[in-house]
Amino acid sequence: MGYDKKVNEAAWAQLEQRRQSAESAAAAALEDFYARCPRALEVKRQMASNAAQAGRDVVSGGDVRAALEKRKERGLTLSREYEELLASCGLTPQDVAPRYACPDCKDTGFVDGRMCRCLKQLRKNLAYRQLSGKLPLAESTFESFSLGYYREDPEALRQMTEILRACQTYAQRFRGDSPSLLFKGGTGLGKTHLSLAIANEALEKGFGVVYGSAQSFAMALEKERFRQEGEGAGDQMKSCDLLILDDLGTEFPSAYVNAALYDVVNSRMLAGCPTIISTNLTLKELEGRYSPRFASRIAGSYGKLEFRGRDVRIQKRKTGQR
Ligand SMILES: [Zn+2]
Repeated sequence: MGYDKKVNEAAWAQLEQRRQSAESAAAAALEDFYARCPRALEVKRQMASNAAQAGRDVVSGGDVRAALEKRKERGLTLSREYEELLASCGLTPQDVAPRYACPDCKDTGFVDGRMCRCLKQLRKNLAYRQLSGKLPLAESTFESFSLGYYREDPEALRQMTEILRACQTYAQRFRGDSPSLLFKGGTGLGKTHLSLAIANEALEKGFGVVYGSAQSFAMALEKERFRQEGEGAGDQMKSCDLLILDDLGTEFPSAYVNAALYDVVNSRMLAGCPTIISTNLTLKELEGRYSPRFASRIAGSYGKLEFRGRDVRIQKRKTGQR
């Protein structure tokens, strides 16, 4: 599976950063321990010198076995004392050891010369991020979603309160086999905001999220139409943990893109992977624009959320907000 240079470099940099922060935290904890218990540092030094002596015993001849036995015993006594000293400070050996994000490879990315699954996952997630482009994730949280814009219409307010709650629950409980959702409704009703808020939480939990407008996906799919090898946008859209397809129906129509989108939606459904589609098309319009097969797939298995109200963007502009 090939990733471009940027993805690989970013994965290495993240791994390096994880390793360094684990090791410097451990070094600081150790320094603190030695400051509180100078005897522990002395014992540590004796352990090192004992081990070095064992090496010398081997080459010096004589009764090597007996000498090594003595070293081993000495080593055990010293490490027992060391652990007792740790315990006397209320510490365990784990408290002064690096806490690697991945215990398998100790954040080096490799185990026995093979790429560790953590590095594979890291590269995958970074490639998803790259495909998703720059997202306004920080601004699009559940906390920043205002119901104030729906106040004038009690019915819309009721519905949007319910939708907000449903999306929050969905995000909290998000797993790789969560159900798919269809956000329906006009422009400016918060579909993008809430889908980004879900993306935020899924990313926070470590899931690989691919997010994009139908238009940007259509362009990415067109670009790799004649691609021969390697993992492309279509593959990433299929393999990620959560795919968010925003504004379906606003992309430039093309038979090729329609077929590619159907392929993505259908294979995710067969694999039981969640997709969130937002659109202002009705199911009837989806059927006409794509195919009855495409529309029936979505109608049959997506949880539907109907967004109501008046265009929030226009209201924000009126009140001078961004
Ligand atoms: Zn690893």
